[in-house]
Amino acid sequence: MTFHVITLFPELVEQCCNSSIIGRAFGNGVINLELINLRDFAINSYGSVDDYTYGGGAGMLIACEPVYNAYQKIMEKLPGGSSVRTIYTTPQARVFTQTDAKELSRENDDIIFICGHYEGIDERVLQKIVTDYYSIGDYVLTGGELPVAVIIDAVARLIPGVLNNDESAETESFNDGLLEYPQYTRPKVWQEMEVPPVLLSGDHKKVGEWRHFMAKERTKERRPELYTKYLEERGIW
Ligand code: SAM
Repeated sequence: MTFHVITLFPELVEQCCNSSIIGRAFGNGVINLELINLRDFAINSYGSVDDYTYGGGAGMLIACEPVYNAYQKIMEKLPGGSSVRTIYTTPQARVFTQTDAKELSRENDDIIFICGHYEGIDERVLQKIVTDYYSIGDYVLTGGELPVAVIIDAVARLIPGVLNNDESAETESFNDGLLEYPQYTRPKVWQEMEVPPVLLSGDHKKVGEWRHFMAKERTKERRPELYTKYLEERGIW
């Protein structure tokens, strides 16, 4: 799968995506990243991509034409073009979740991301090309580059071949509606704090039961709304 990112700051997205596990996957071709510099589609010889907003108010808005032309440039290269998922990150959307990450990771086709900046992007081009809107939280960032990098990271690590077996996502938080259980490594005792004895017992059944119990306790304590949903979905309410 190729992630195409339309952005004014390609270096920012690249920096976020080129290290650690995700960087390795991009490096060995399991997944691909194509960065499209919006500046290359400027509306004049000064390199402008933005303009004043109708109706007044502070700030500039990215215009339709550069975004649409950048999008068309990608679409020209893609087979079966019109159905390609095109994601715009914006604080004016529901918050992206692990369920969304799973769903996007199963996409057979490439995914296009559009990063906003300044006041955002002219509504008309969004209406024309965007299929999905996601926020990464109820706060406002300067641009869409970090949100897009967050989403790419969350999606990419669920694509087969990106994580090694020992980095499996199956036991991680949200996978079964719960947060993950607490984890420990050596030494057995650190600053008088002991690793829970059950984890040293070698009894896999007991370890599994303890982890499930602790996952429920942690979710109940830290994310009570998630725990309620977990119980409701299992008819335990
Ligand atoms: N004027 C917009 C508003 O009030 O909703 C905010 C624009 S923000 C300064 C610039 C760009 O950053 C947005 O177009 C969007 O792409 C991105 N962005 C900012 N906060 C975000 C968030 N919480 N989630 C996703 N994208 C965000």
